[in-house]
Amino acid sequence: MCEITLLISLVILSIYIVVTFFLGDKSTAGLLVPLPAAVAALATAVISFTSYVWAPQAQMHLVAFFNYLCLSATTGILIFFTGGVRSPYIVLWMLLSIFAGLFGKLALILIFLAANSLLAYEFVVHGAQLGRGALVVPLLALETPVLISYIVWREKGAQDSKKTQAFDALAKQLSQVANKSEIVINAITEGVVAIDVQGIIQLINPAAQELLGWTKQDAVGLDYRSVIKLIGINGKELPPEASPIQQVLVSSKPLVNNDLALMTHSGKKILVSLVISPVGQDKTTQTSGAIAVIRDITGEKAEERQKAEFISTASHEMRTPVAAIEGYLGLALNPSTAAIDDKARTYLMKAQEATQHLGTLFQDLLTVSRAEDNRLAPKPTVVDVVAFLHEVTESLMQKAQTKGLFLYFKPAGVGGEDAISNRTISPVFYSFVDQGHLREVANNLIDNAIKYTKQGSVSVDVTGDDNTVTLSVADSGIGIPPEDVSHLFQKFYRIDNSDTREIGGTGLGLYISRRLIEANNGHIWVESALGKGSVFYVQIPRITHERAAELLESEAAQAKQPTTPVQPLAPALPASQAPAIPTVPQQPA
Ligand code: ADP
Repeated sequence: MCEITLLISLVILSIYIVVTFFLGDKSTAGLLVPLPAAVAALATAVISFTSYVWAPQAQMHLVAFFNYLCLSATTGILIFFTGGVRSPYIVLWMLLSIFAGLFGKLALILIFLAANSLLAYEFVVHGAQLGRGALVVPLLALETPVLISYIVWREKGAQDSKKTQAFDALAKQLSQVANKSEIVINAITEGVVAIDVQGIIQLINPAAQELLGWTKQDAVGLDYRSVIKLIGINGKELPPEASPIQQVLVSSKPLVNNDLALMTHSGKKILVSLVISPVGQDKTTQTSGAIAVIRDITGEKAEERQKAEFISTASHEMRTPVAAIEGYLGLALNPSTAAIDDKARTYLMKAQEATQHLGTLFQDLLTVSRAEDNRLAPKPTVVDVVAFLHEVTESLMQKAQTKGLFLYFKPAGVGGEDAISNRTISPVFYSFVDQGHLREVANNLIDNAIKYTKQGSVSVDVTGDDNTVTLSVADSGIGIPPEDVSHLFQKFYRIDNSDTREIGGTGLGLYISRRLIEANNGHIWVESALGKGSVFYVQIPRITHERAAELLESEAAQAKQPTTPVQPLAPALPASQAPAIPTVPQQPA
């Protein structure tokens, strides 16, 4: 608007200068600019130029309106002094009137009043002289643009008001959603902390304030590391890069951790469960932060520990009599130590089977309690995985054959006798893991494959790449329903259907396998098709031949030095608690 005002007022001024200084009295063209109009045009030009240069952006609408009024006033003066309704500048007025609606109701009213004042003046002063009908054309010329402008302004106003209404409704809705979210977040009994991508705390709910001992006023705006001080299993504060929150901010992947402690503002240590989820991590947007849900699990952990202690002690205590019963049953079934009839033999064999199962259960329970106490620290040694797994497979051959299954070790070739002799064609994979742990896992997987396969085959394989070795046990057995796959490695999880009901088990084997493999920095998973079979995979880190040679050398050197005996997987019983396996038949009490 400032530019247009400046331009028009400069044109008026130019006409004034040209007519007055160059044409003089010769101008009869009617395009005269009287001095008052020239002065008004000059003032308008100065105002519009000043507005153009200095006016603040926020006040632009007001400034434009003011410029419009100045230009209208200049045009009005021009018209007044150049013949009123007969002035050629009426055209300029009409143009200006059309734009009045842009500045709203006030501009329309002012333009309307100005036009009508001129008409009234003309009517009163020159009415008689002009005749009755002479004012009809000026009336139409002056009123029509104002009318058009009014209609356009109303239409636009209606649209704007619709937009404003929609905007208000949206704003209200958003504020309601924000209120609801706040109510929900504040009502959550677990601590919720929202952290932006720079690691600054943006939100902390009352539960988190209570848990961490920080008030909202103090915590919001601070770096999360000053507020959420995490302590690792070793009792030391976690370095920033090891913090799960940092990991989520960097990787945009959700994380769950139940093994960390937290130092509160007052210096108290509590055990916590942390669930950290990235915010805005979809394909299109970058991570914009993370939400940490913190729960105090000190009580739960203490309870768990008590339970584990109870299970551990009970299993320990019960293993002793069970081992004794197994021993007696062995003696009773041994023809050289006892004479029994066939019926009794059948009963005793069933009793022995059940006792063995009980013994396995206690052993599994002991391993579980060790795993939960983090007492499964691996004692790694160099393992030639192919040879090792071949040996484990061989040890279960008898069991498979008894069930009529074909168990074979793939790297040795189908029907192959010995993997070691085929070394030239089968690659050698070395790993640095706990042999006892790996044996237990392999045993469990092959044993399960035999157990859950009615007919067909079980094959064991080893493959690998530069960094990992993958063991696989495939069977043509009953398979696993897809909905059970994600629960399979949980404690006591057994699939309960017509196929498995008859097969005994504890539901602990796969859980223990997972814990053992994770303790050795590996992972375990399954792929299965119901009714067709399953493949269990175990992936462990691979080491190079050179590294294996180095480690073997240092193992050999260590073996030469007198060392403390290697701790077996199951805790060794004190001599007083060792199972009393009788060597001679004794009279049961
Ligand atoms: P269990 O002592 O019951 O065998 P595991 O933890 O070893 O306990 O296995 C858990 C469950 O997983 C089993 O009860 C069984 O239903 C299922 N399972 C394990 N291995 C296989 C397999 N090779 N084929 C089909 N189901 C299997």
